[in-house]
Amino acid sequence: MRRLEGKNVLITGGSTGIGRATAIRFADEGANVAINYHTSEREAEITLEEARKTCSLIREKGCRDLLVQGDVAREEDVQRIFREVLGAWGRLDILINNAGIQTASPTHEADTDAYDRVLAVNLRGAFLCAREAVRHFLDRGGGGVILNNTSIHETVPKPHYAAYAASKAGMGALGRTLALEYAGRGIRVNTVAPGAIATPINREWLEDPEKRAEVEGHIPMGRAGRPEEIATVFAFLASDEAAYIAGQTIYVDGGLTLCPDFRTPWSSGS
Ligand code: NAD
Repeated sequence: MRRLEGKNVLITGGSTGIGRATAIRFADEGANVAINYHTSEREAEITLEEARKTCSLIREKGCRDLLVQGDVAREEDVQRIFREVLGAWGRLDILINNAGIQTASPTHEADTDAYDRVLAVNLRGAFLCAREAVRHFLDRGGGGVILNNTSIHETVPKPHYAAYAASKAGMGALGRTLALEYAGRGIRVNTVAPGAIATPINREWLEDPEKRAEVEGHIPMGRAGRPEEIATVFAFLASDEAAYIAGQTIYVDGGLTLCPDFRTPWSSGS
């Protein structure tokens, strides 16, 4: 399908995991993809090569693509990222706030700097990028799309991950607020909330068969999700097929938010 033909998309943290799968999917849909990366230019290049392969399969002229380094938590970096994308392409149609980090510790032992950094990358980063995108959409007229990558922890509490859960809840609120504020001016803002997905952020349990089995045992569908299964939802939400959807969060989690403890009846004694 080529539902995003000629659309220009910027994906933050787009060189690995869900961001990488989304870059490839969007290229496959005919979009021009700008991949923001933070530290590893090599990872970003590999993603771009993959996206190009997909793109050249379907487009005679290949696609326009871009790598843009920058830390989304830093205002000057975000402004530069947008200058580079708009300098190269002249317009942006879709922003995907995907960059994210997490740290774990019992909350009473949590380090303040670590807490601040998670909030800075996940929430402040999404705000800074969304603000630049909205400014551009308003300047050029004609609207645009902003998509956020939260997590089931947008609403489900996560002990030892207070900063992560708070940042994702904040991103959910940010998305709904922007959706309401700008819906009348053609800007659609929506959110995808993944469950447990097989990406580098989960390296620790993915690489340990026992830990992986434990994680997957909690998921009603019995397996971790694939990054491509998130990318496909971003592609739908970015497309005109989702033209009347505003301010929603779509959970893509193999049933994880269905309270798996209720798989067998226990609460009524039957
Ligand atoms: P990942 O670690 O591969 O991706 C995170 C990306 O963000 C990386 O490319 C990283 O370099 C980038 N990043 C980190 N700090 C950055 C910064 N300051 N500026 C710019 N980029 C930065 O893991 P992933 O699972 O693909 O994560 C992508 C998003 O999906 C994250 O927001 C994560 O919270 C969310 N998510 C993942 C899962 C999961 O199970 N994998 C579940 C729910 C939500």
